[in-house]
Amino acid sequence: MALGSSFYLTYQVQKEQLINYTLKSNYAYANKLASATNNFLESALQQLAYSAKIIEADLDNNVLLEKEVKRLHLQTNSFNSVVINKNGITVATSPYLPNVLGVTSSSIGAQQALAKKQPLVSYPYISLENNLVIFISSPFFDKNGKYMGYIGGTLYLKESNILSELLEQHYYSGGSYIYVVDANKKLIYHPDSKRIGEQVNNNSVITAVLSGSLGKELVKNSDNISMLAGYAPVEIANWGIVAQRPLKDTLAYLDVLGIEIFKRITPLVLMMLLAIALLAHFISRPLKLLADSSHLLNDENNVNKLKDIKSWYFEAQQLKAAMLEGVNTLQLQMGQLRQDALTDPLTGAHNRRGLYLLLDKLIQKQIPFAVLEIDIDFFKRVNDTFGHDVGDEVLKTLTCVIKQVSRKDDIVARTGGEEFLLILPNENSDSAFVIAERLRNEVANTPMAKVGCINVSIGIATWPQHSDDIDQVYKCADKALYHAKETGRNKTVIASLN
Ligand code: GH3
Ligand code: MG
Ligand code: MG
Repeated sequence: MALGSSFYLTYQVQKEQLINYTLKSNYAYANKLASATNNFLESALQQLAYSAKIIEADLDNNVLLEKEVKRLHLQTNSFNSVVINKNGITVATSPYLPNVLGVTSSSIGAQQALAKKQPLVSYPYISLENNLVIFISSPFFDKNGKYMGYIGGTLYLKESNILSELLEQHYYSGGSYIYVVDANKKLIYHPDSKRIGEQVNNNSVITAVLSGSLGKELVKNSDNISMLAGYAPVEIANWGIVAQRPLKDTLAYLDVLGIEIFKRITPLVLMMLLAIALLAHFISRPLKLLADSSHLLNDENNVNKLKDIKSWYFEAQQLKAAMLEGVNTLQLQMGQLRQDALTDPLTGAHNRRGLYLLLDKLIQKQIPFAVLEIDIDFFKRVNDTFGHDVGDEVLKTLTCVIKQVSRKDDIVARTGGEEFLLILPNENSDSAFVIAERLRNEVANTPMAKVGCINVSIGIATWPQHSDDIDQVYKCADKALYHAKETGRNKTVIASLN
């Protein structure tokens, strides 16, 4: 986008500059040409005025008159023909034109000169010989100042002379061309020679230049083509010179330039885009991988994947570190929560949920086990006598004693207020009884703080001997315990096999 917009802006700026430059140069050119034309017409008038003075000195000297017309015609390339009219009659011509000599001239130029009686550049007009001409003349007078006639030069606008060379030599330089209009908006010069003599109305530039102003503007010509025109008036003849160049031709160069720039810049742009794409890929890759592994982080595999992500720059590294730290904390907390959910907070023994989980494993593996249901005798009295806190301490100490007596694979659980279950894997009723008795004696011989010694009663049942159904095994152990309580307490009873 940045490249595109800078390309567009450059194009716009270039376009504006090109238009301004073309307008300026056309303006300068029209101006220069107008002043050159003006100078030429002035000097032509001067030449004629000088000849008029010579003629006035010796008006009846026909040889002199012949000499003057010849000189003016041949000395420079200013005029295509030169005539002297005296008392309304053509008395000398160069080139020699016998049919004109000695008669009254009826040409428009001659009529104008005779009527004005002053130095004059005529309107362009079609001559008798069917040429588009202008007539430049200067009057002469006798010694008393009476108007005697004129000496005049004709310029054929379509034929070779100084003026046509001046105006024509620059046609089509760099696509631009000039045209000249007279005071009646008629084309005097135009690169398309067929158009010479044509009257052009509705052209703002022509209107402006003929009103005597000079300037430059973007106009639509009579063919509705946009032109960059500069214009300047030729004051002495009241002509206007317009130098112009089609806008399309001017901008064609810019299109070529644009295509050239585009061609050169394209590989560069492609390389830049590739570099951007690669960089974007390498920068976003760790982020994408981090994002992908951000869910399901309780899965160990995903955590390992997270550890393997190559976060090669600082921000990604920080994110990864933060995520790993978060996962660790989460895992620790989850472990703690799991632990809390499965243990009894007072004694640290398994609670009922923890017990069931472990028993499920034993049952799954078909490992037989004995269940010892342990209940403190007259525990209510302990609480009543020493208070609840002391009772709690007794529960804790009892847990320690049970753990001491049990082995590594045994399961100690507190399943009710002052009731414990001790699970002995791979023990039958008899071997369990021995252990239960050892435990009962150990409890009886362990003094509890403040309370002294306490006793426990124990009921025993085994899985799968007593029942396949673990709940039934509990019930059996419960019955046996009840039986122990009923028959005097501080004893162990094995549940009967039905
Ligand atoms: P028995 O020999 O028949 O078992 O008599 P007992 O008093 O031990 O039995 P009982 O079921 O009448 O009373 C159990 C008592 O255990 C009641 C309650 O005060 C106490 N107890 C239960 N849970 C807790 C506990 O978490 N902390 C304490 N300190 N006492 C508890
Ligand atoms: Mg009880
Ligand atoms: Mg009890």
